Amino acid sequence: MKASLMKKLSLGFLIAVLGSILLASFISNYIIGKKFETYLVDEHKTKVNNVVKIIDDLYSNEKSLSDINTEEIQRYAELQEMYIEVKDLNNNTLYTSGNSHLQHSAMMENMMNGMMHNFSEMNIGEYSEEKHPLLVNNEKVGTITIGYFGTSYLSSASVTFISTLNHSFILSAVIALIFGLIISVIISRQLSRPLAKITDTANMMRVGDLEVRADVNSNTKEIDELSNSINYLAETLKKQDMLRKRLTSDMAHELRTPLTTLKTHVEAFMDGIWEPTTERFEAFYEEIQRLTKMVDNLRNIAKLEQRNLNLNKSKINLSEELEKIVDTFKPMFIKDSYELLSSIAPEIMATIDKDKFKQIMNNLLSNAHKYLKPNGKAQVILKKEKENIIIKVIDNGIGIPEKDLPYVFERFYRSDLSRNKNTGGSGIGLTITKAFVEAHGGKIYAQSKVNEGTTFVVELPTK
Ligand code: ADP
Repeated sequence: MKASLMKKLSLGFLIAVLGSILLASFISNYIIGKKFETYLVDEHKTKVNNVVKIIDDLYSNEKSLSDINTEEIQRYAELQEMYIEVKDLNNNTLYTSGNSHLQHSAMMENMMNGMMHNFSEMNIGEYSEEKHPLLVNNEKVGTITIGYFGTSYLSSASVTFISTLNHSFILSAVIALIFGLIISVIISRQLSRPLAKITDTANMMRVGDLEVRADVNSNTKEIDELSNSINYLAETLKKQDMLRKRLTSDMAHELRTPLTTLKTHVEAFMDGIWEPTTERFEAFYEEIQRLTKMVDNLRNIAKLEQRNLNLNKSKINLSEELEKIVDTFKPMFIKDSYELLSSIAPEIMATIDKDKFKQIMNNLLSNAHKYLKPNGKAQVILKKEKENIIIKVIDNGIGIPEKDLPYVFERFYRSDLSRNKNTGGSGIGLTITKAFVEAHGGKIYAQSKVNEGTTFVVELPTK
């Protein structure tokens, strides 16, 4: 059975409060009881010894044992709630206090007996007697019997003290319970309200509303984190959803262009408008090649997604390698009257997969070339910062709109600007580039401004 947070918290508080009060009362009853017991037993012993001493003294002062003025003993017996009996050596009773004065207190103590379980060791309510020798001039001349109800140990003050203590325990238990319940209700409300909101948000997301956000203002760290996570999840799902839709339309677009060209060409042949010349077949071939390349790219991406990139790492002079790559690109730039500059720090060594590195740079440089404007300029920078190698490819080309910037590394994502430029790209190069960089434990990111240019930064570890 699932219980609500409120029920659980209240029950927890209840058990904790009751448990601690019970424990505290048990311990204090026990300890105070023990203390009282020793104190009262000592007191009782002194009392009995005093009585014995007084009786001894009385008998010592008189010549005959029967001439005693028993009034004083009687007063004592009544005052101390004791039964006193004095016998001579022949077992003749010399004095007895009688036990009528014991009745009242015995009844009272019997009543208290029910309340004071912890004093049971003292045989509450039970009558007991102890015998002491009657000494006259240090000679035993008889026996003094002193009887008392065990309860007479307990002065009424001690009973009152213990019962007041227990009453205050009961009272504090009640107050603590009420207090605890109020606090548990407040706390559980504070916890369950934002949780309910977050659950609502998740439920709405489940039925497809990815615009909802959990608007939770909680001072509980975990709840705050949960709400941030659910909002982040919604944001990610929204992005993924957008990318998925865009991917389908992008792919359709990429496939349609070559297919349309082929179709119109074939129609023109069929209608006899066009002669099937070698050049026209070459144009066909180019389109078919574009399609093949796309299919290849798709396959590559599928491989990348399996995340089992095998790197063939070796220690290479990255500076030399990059110079070579830049040199191979120079003719392409010059042909279009662009400029390709480089600022490469010498002798930078790195342990990387040379082929993959070439592919990374090829992608970045051909993008820079593709998206330049007339008289455009691109620059390649290589330097070392702490334990990282930094490679920058900077161009002053068409730039990437801010809304597209977070997605350029996604499969088939192309900014509208580049689409209009008709560069023949397929939006896959950067996806592959990113996968290669990350496989090396590095990272890649882009900074860009429309019409001003783009900078791609690759950070690679040296090892
Ligand atoms: P594509 O084959 O379209 O170039 P990429 O994956 O290499 O695919 O790039 C994805 C998109 O990123 C491009 O379509 C373009 O919109 C943008 N892009 C990449 N490099 C640049 C750049 N240097 N300048 C402007 N836009 C760029």
